[in-house]
Amino acid sequence: MTDSASKPAIDTEALRKKYLEERDKRLRRDGEQQYFEASGEFAEFAADPYVDEPLQREAIDEETDVAVIGGGFGGLLTAAALRDKGVGDFRIIEQGGDFGGTWYWNRYPGIRCDIESYIYMPLLEEVGTMPTERYARGSEIFAHCQKIGRHYDLYDRALFQTKVTRIAWDDKAVRWIVETDRGDRIRARFVSVAQGPLSKVKLPGIPGIRKFTGTMFHSSRWNYDYTGGDSHGGLTKLAGERIAVIGTGASGIQIIPRLADHAEHVYVFQRTPSVINVRDNRPTDIEWFASQPYGWQRERMQNFLSIISGLPQDKDMVGDSWTDFWKRVGKAMHAHHESGGEGPPEAVMQQVDFEKMEEIRRRVEEVIEDPATAEAAKPWYNYLCKRPLYSDEFLHVFNRDNVTLVDTGGQGVSEITESGLVAAGEEYPVDCIIFATGFDVGAAAYKVGGYELVGKGGLTLDEKWKDGVRSLHGTQICGFPNFHIVGGVNQGTTAFNFTHTLAMQAEHACDIIAQCLEDGVAAMEVTEEAERRWNAQMEAKHHDMSHFHEECTPGFLNNEGNFKDKPTFIGATYGGGPVEYEQIIREWRAQHIERDTVRSYDKAKPVAA
Ligand code: NDP
Repeated sequence: MTDSASKPAIDTEALRKKYLEERDKRLRRDGEQQYFEASGEFAEFAADPYVDEPLQREAIDEETDVAVIGGGFGGLLTAAALRDKGVGDFRIIEQGGDFGGTWYWNRYPGIRCDIESYIYMPLLEEVGTMPTERYARGSEIFAHCQKIGRHYDLYDRALFQTKVTRIAWDDKAVRWIVETDRGDRIRARFVSVAQGPLSKVKLPGIPGIRKFTGTMFHSSRWNYDYTGGDSHGGLTKLAGERIAVIGTGASGIQIIPRLADHAEHVYVFQRTPSVINVRDNRPTDIEWFASQPYGWQRERMQNFLSIISGLPQDKDMVGDSWTDFWKRVGKAMHAHHESGGEGPPEAVMQQVDFEKMEEIRRRVEEVIEDPATAEAAKPWYNYLCKRPLYSDEFLHVFNRDNVTLVDTGGQGVSEITESGLVAAGEEYPVDCIIFATGFDVGAAAYKVGGYELVGKGGLTLDEKWKDGVRSLHGTQICGFPNFHIVGGVNQGTTAFNFTHTLAMQAEHACDIIAQCLEDGVAAMEVTEEAERRWNAQMEAKHHDMSHFHEECTPGFLNNEGNFKDKPTFIGATYGGGPVEYEQIIREWRAQHIERDTVRSYDKAKPVAA
């Protein structure tokens, strides 16, 4: 077990009871239905505030080898890999006005990445970028995306401010027909979709939103005309303004300290307190960075991924709160096995979790001076029920006179009025409401794009997946030839460092595409048998997490408490973990393409010499 001798004893029964009580306060019948999409009369919440002039251009009618959907890191990594493999005939279709994806849209004040920049920002060595800090600012990550675009000569290949409306397979032409809201018609041999899971703005269904007469916007569409300043802060136009922030997730906790620097008053409407770990940001050691040998970034990414997958490593290169937690789990599990392994391993994990969460709660108490506010800011659930967060500013902000934590007792804001918000029976008059309420993470990759996807014989993906996700590796689908998903989480994988997932799946898609083009493959489609085999492998490796999710406080990781509504292993990630997953897809490319796909050829199949 852990070295608990120096730590106060934990009353685990009392804690468990408290966790369940806090969960029960937050369970609600409407689950995910409590949120709604920023469309129709709410479309302004998702409109692009960053383009000065809407683009005017003629519709395009063209043929290309690859249509890449999305210009965030997923699309950029795909396009870069295509270039590396000598495939130059492709189009990138992107809704925003530039590359960047998440980092194009999210420009709120205080924005930084919560994964170490040396592993999060891909292609650092290839492009020649040195992040200036351990946790890079959003503006720096956005600039890196643009640099990737220039380095790989992608700007000429991109159609910005363009939304895909339909992707349909034309069996006769053996092409995908990609249609857009600008009247484009692109005939592509291959399609690779990479819209990212966090791109669909989500609003809370609080009664009265439309009544409010002040300013309102979503955190991912920041209104700098109203606030002044930029993503580094300096929101000087907020002098004299009373601001409400709804949401204390990853976005909210970064925004709130910057608002507090300038607003007359900031009201933080909290439904569930987040886990706030130490951030420990620092400038990059330039000598250290310059001394890294070629290939260092991949090694570092792999090291992080291995540790958080529970695979022991000789050293912990990143050494952050993510790896700290998993090393503690590993140490405790090792001790458990050494001592004969009595009792279930879940109990060992739970003990580590309780200890970690006690530390998190102690930090809240140590930082926040007002005891009642500190009590309200303590999270009472298991460490991984929600994505753990990192900040050395958020908790401290409650020691300022111009910041109030409005504890809604787990119920959230109950009403929005003409001039403010109501929570826990009290009205708070404000001038502006900022929704830091996140994104629809439950939506499947193609749904995030909001277009219709039609495969062979007119089969839509909705129809194909009506009883659950069916795919090979979460990236290829029977009935959808030459179609690849980059960022495929359902039946695929996810690493806490999401760009790592994107990198491995982009490499997978581009290797296959480049090989097909070289071999004159017109269409390659994975078989039903391959999907069945993957399903069986998924089932064999599935960890039943239903008990863990059931006890968690509601959030997007457990379908807002209604986790039983979602298929269990079918839509889940591969239970063997991301390291094993990467090996599987690599081996598949080397050994199993012939077995698992049917292929047609442009010309007679070349005969091996
Ligand atoms: P989240 O979904 O994480 O947070 C939404 C917040 O809104 C929660 O605190 C939620 O409370 C709250 N909320 C929702 N409805 C109400 C209501 N009716 N009343 C009061 N509060 C409400 O969104 P974020 O934008 O913060 O983050 C989205 C994703 O983006 C996360 O996965 C995050 O990890 C990621 N992200 C990553 C960053 C990075 O650095 N890598 C930076 C920013 C975001 P409750 O918890 O009770 O549901």
